[in-house]
Amino acid sequence: MKDYDVIVIGSGMGGLSCAGILASRGLRVLVLEKNPNPGGYLTSFKRKGFIFDSAVDCFSGMDEKGAIKYLLKKLEVEDKIEFIKIDPIRESIFPGMRIKTWSDVDVYVESLKELFPTEKNIDGFFRKMEEIYNDINIWAAGILQDGDNKSTFPAVLIKYGSLTYKNLMDNYLYNEKLKSVLSDRCFFLGLPPSKISAISMAVLLMSYFISGAYRPVSGCQRLSDVLVHGIKKKGGSIFLKKEVTKIITENNKAIGVVTSDGTSYTAQHVVSNIDYMQTVSMLGDKYIFESQNILNEFEISPSFFILYVGAKIDLSFLGTSSSIGYFPSYDIEKAFDFTKSFTDNTPVGLTIPTIIDSSMSPQNSHSIAVHELTDYAYSKSWKEAKEKISERILRKVEKIIPNIKKQIIHIEAATPVTLERYTANFKGAAYGWQQLPWLRPIKSRIVNLYLAGHWDGLGGGVIAATYSGFKTAKEILKQSLYKI
Ligand SMILES: Cc1cc2nc3c(=O)[nH]c(=O)nc-3n(C[C@H](O)[C@H](O)[C@H](O)COP(=O)(O)OP(=O)(O)OC[C@H]3O[C@@H](n4cnc5c(N)ncnc54)[C@H](O)[C@@H]3O)c2cc1C
Repeated sequence: MKDYDVIVIGSGMGGLSCAGILASRGLRVLVLEKNPNPGGYLTSFKRKGFIFDSAVDCFSGMDEKGAIKYLLKKLEVEDKIEFIKIDPIRESIFPGMRIKTWSDVDVYVESLKELFPTEKNIDGFFRKMEEIYNDINIWAAGILQDGDNKSTFPAVLIKYGSLTYKNLMDNYLYNEKLKSVLSDRCFFLGLPPSKISAISMAVLLMSYFISGAYRPVSGCQRLSDVLVHGIKKKGGSIFLKKEVTKIITENNKAIGVVTSDGTSYTAQHVVSNIDYMQTVSMLGDKYIFESQNILNEFEISPSFFILYVGAKIDLSFLGTSSSIGYFPSYDIEKAFDFTKSFTDNTPVGLTIPTIIDSSMSPQNSHSIAVHELTDYAYSKSWKEAKEKISERILRKVEKIIPNIKKQIIHIEAATPVTLERYTANFKGAAYGWQQLPWLRPIKSRIVNLYLAGHWDGLGGGVIAATYSGFKTAKEILKQSLYKI
């Protein structure tokens, strides 16, 4: 008999959601995580009393029908964690214009109409976005239902699958500044409007209105820890500081894994929540060409430079804006030219959870994470470039929070190399594959080996990784004795 029914490599959101569903159905599950903490990009760390979320600003999925709510319920740990709904979802600062994306879409649309009175079809644009979101959501809800997913393939995938977000905006809107404002969250997906899939963007923007944008109280680590607690409660095991180095195969079938300390674990099914290229390399030389093949077909998403700042400062002038985008220019396309990262003209995003959650910093102080999207290849030596880049980013932060430099108690930075080292995502990729039109699910060619997370082709982000984990769990349940 095999040691486990299922081994999950990696405890990112995709790994935890897959393990969570399987454990809740009584399967013997083992999660192996290389880091001392679970969560991957969904983690936090503490310095001098400040809690910093390593990466994530916010996510949806906590409303009554939400995917994360569903998982917490299945694991019976719903009461172990609290969430704060963010409102405004985002405040975007453009030259001469500040606009808040309130959680009520009607209020947001009205403010757009006031700012751009000559635009006549803002309502039509949002109706189309909602139609796309609803269609995808019906299909996604099918993944959450027990039994075979009978819900039909989303029609919008056929209708709008090849459309970019720019195409969609151009069909309804004229004003280029308005289009820039509506593209403020392209940085959440890593692609400019001319490249990002219209469907990915519609789902991202509308999910925050319809499902809500949330953060766990006391930081993202809380969610990962609570999910681990729930998995253990349901009989699953999680071993931290256990790096998987090899996937054992027999006749093209995955049968277990080996960890860096030489221990072997066998299982009926193996799920990889880690970077695709690493998964392939763990299969041995025979499969190495798979990496090149896939890289010819799909592109890798960009990475981030992140500055974590703890400061004793009064930020009451920001009201409840805890997520801010600063755009020195309306030229969103140009901001994605990463050869020119970190100039005074490139945008930054600020996440200040302490504006609405005082548990994450000492009194009268704030934890601020500043994100700038960039490419791994931008610098040959990120270590050497770190200080200079931090200085340049701080200059931009000062435009939003004057005099911040004098109030800093703690400061440190993460580069794409840091992200790669910590999560082992190839080149510090923030979202797995680029969400270009026609991104599609990737199937492993090894029997009983599955993918879960942002490398499986469902898309990037916390919620996409969660659904990916559910989808894989469902596939395994279908094949196991534990029929659903
Ligand atoms: C700066 C930044 C900001 C972001 N902001 C948002 C946001 O606001 N909202 C949102 O929805 N998404 C956001 N994202 C994207 C989102 O965080 C990711 O898409 C999602 O969390 C990925 O989850 P995952 O399950 O695919 O895996 P990951 O989080 O990548 O986790 C993989 C896990 O596998 C482990 N691992 C790797 N190799 C091994 C091995 N050999 N053995 C054992 N374990 C291993 C890693 O340590 C890690 O814990 C952001 C990403 C970044 C970088």
